[in-house]
Amino acid sequence: MSWTTHEIANQVPDLPDCNLFATDPALQEAVRRDACWHEAELCDSGAELGSRALRELAAQANHHPPQLHTHDRVGRRIDTVDFHPAWHQLLALQRKRNLQALPWAEPRAGVHAARTAGYYLQTQLESGSLCPITMTHAAIPLLRQEPALFAGLADKLFSREHDGRDLPIAQKRSIMIGMGMTEKQGGSDVRGNTTRAEALGDEGCGQPYLLTGHKWFFSVPSCDAHLVLAQTVGGLSCFFVPRWRPDGERNAIRIQRLKDKLGNRSNASGEVEFQDAWGVMVGDEGRGVATIIEMANRTRLDCVIGSAGLMRHALVQAIHHARHRSAFGRPLAEQPLMQNVLADLALESEAAMLLMMRLARAADQLQQQDSALERAWQRIVTPAAKFWVCKRAIEFCGECMEVWGGNGYVEEAPMARLLREAPVNSIWEGSGNVMCLDVLRAIAREPEGLILLLQDLDRIAAAHAGLRTLLDSLRDSLRLPPQQLESQARRIAQQLVLAAQGCLMLQHAPTAHAEAFIASRSHADGGRVYGTLNETTGGTLAAHDGRLHAQILQRAWPV
Ligand SMILES: Cc1cc2nc3c(=O)[nH]c(=O)nc-3n(C[C@H](O)[C@H](O)[C@H](O)COP(=O)(O)OP(=O)(O)OC[C@H]3O[C@@H](n4cnc5c(N)ncnc54)[C@H](O)[C@@H]3O)c2cc1C
Repeated sequence: MSWTTHEIANQVPDLPDCNLFATDPALQEAVRRDACWHEAELCDSGAELGSRALRELAAQANHHPPQLHTHDRVGRRIDTVDFHPAWHQLLALQRKRNLQALPWAEPRAGVHAARTAGYYLQTQLESGSLCPITMTHAAIPLLRQEPALFAGLADKLFSREHDGRDLPIAQKRSIMIGMGMTEKQGGSDVRGNTTRAEALGDEGCGQPYLLTGHKWFFSVPSCDAHLVLAQTVGGLSCFFVPRWRPDGERNAIRIQRLKDKLGNRSNASGEVEFQDAWGVMVGDEGRGVATIIEMANRTRLDCVIGSAGLMRHALVQAIHHARHRSAFGRPLAEQPLMQNVLADLALESEAAMLLMMRLARAADQLQQQDSALERAWQRIVTPAAKFWVCKRAIEFCGECMEVWGGNGYVEEAPMARLLREAPVNSIWEGSGNVMCLDVLRAIAREPEGLILLLQDLDRIAAAHAGLRTLLDSLRDSLRLPPQQLESQARRIAQQLVLAAQGCLMLQHAPTAHAEAFIASRSHADGGRVYGTLNETTGGTLAAHDGRLHAQILQRAWPV
């Protein structure tokens, strides 16, 4: 029996196959500035990652979360996590592009920018599977400081092949590294960690220890090894703790359970306990926090890239929807208020992308030679960007979901996953407040770095009134008495990022777009809710007929 109650009309087709790189002019310009040698590879990757088939794979990896198996059939502990085949395919894609090792395996000018752009494309497909890639990428420079250990790992870290088998490192073609810092009693303040490590023989860097204790969050527990913080007589130290011991036995790491998470569902985050787990000390005894913090600048940049990529994906889905859905007789994308919302989102997305590429440039410059200014961008602006961009992404994804109306709220569509995915970047690797306090710490440690940074922004802002307003407010906040600075740390981080983003937009975006961004972000009545661009403050090209908004949307998604 066939039912013909109605014809289906005005529903939006799925986003077609598209090249994520070729359809992103702002990203292409950024890559040409810093890593033009990588353009062909990014174009290839963009075509692959923009396919409908891979979008389906990403959905599958999230619909079928990993499963923990603590025991085998006959009752032996195995503490194994089974991931859906889609997860492994996603990891294979990332390794093919060397996102876990590119800057260390092929150091050359612009390599951090190249990897950042590649990661940005990948995160537009799926986020959870990038967690072990980020941790591995951040761990490599640390592991390299232990040549004896690194010699047995280098090929497997640099390998472009994914090997998801649960085997001792010696038997694997490639490996992944995780991180274990957070314990039940505190994650931001790891100085209170209680996990202990006892030396098997000689003490110190490169020596074997046995660890006893726990970790409350331990993402990708199936990683081939984790860098773990534990107390020794000399203080909190960092250890390389493999899944399998050198004698071929499973290491004494019990996965108690997996977290039931809001998002990031393709990925497993475990709670683990160590009972005389074997590990090797990495870095100096008692310098565990300093050792791990060195990794943090890299993981935090990945949080910024991950959030910028999420925003880009949500934006593209929103614009696509608005171009195909009509209400009140016209496509949504032609309605003035919707144009304002979408244009505002597009400016936010471009500003986030420009900031992430600027931070990648700092990493590139520092890889070539030391520079106090680039250190200031890296050390002061990275935590501020991690705070601001990751937070903006939460609101951003919610707004893009709303562009889809009720369909956005339904799990069959991609928007719900994007919104659920957004908050984690704001929490892990240092939550918002901790990032803002880190900005103040970095300024206090390197006051001359702040001076150079402000001079750099002043130079770009030159006589621009809107940018001067942003920079003046930042300077006013920085002049607060020391006892007030801490409570104002969020305000300072926000002002710093907005000033930096305004400068980058002025340098690299079309002038009218930059003007609209700066005007809305420097005025008290703009920039809080998306869709409050004031065309009369949109600069010389501003027009009351919506032309500016249309131009912004055309640049954002010229499809
Ligand atoms: C999905 C997921 C996966 C994770 N994976 C890992 C992992 O693999 N390895 C790992 O080590 N950790 C992991 N984490 C843990 C994460 O890094 C911590 O949750 C995070 O660092 C915060 O620590 P906490 O949860 O103990 O919160 P707390 O430290 O208790 O902080 C709670 C809140 O207080 C704020 N706060 C803290 N100190 C101050 C202060 N001085 N002033 C003002 N505010 C302050 C924080 O910003 C935060 O908002 C993961 C977390 C999640 C959600």
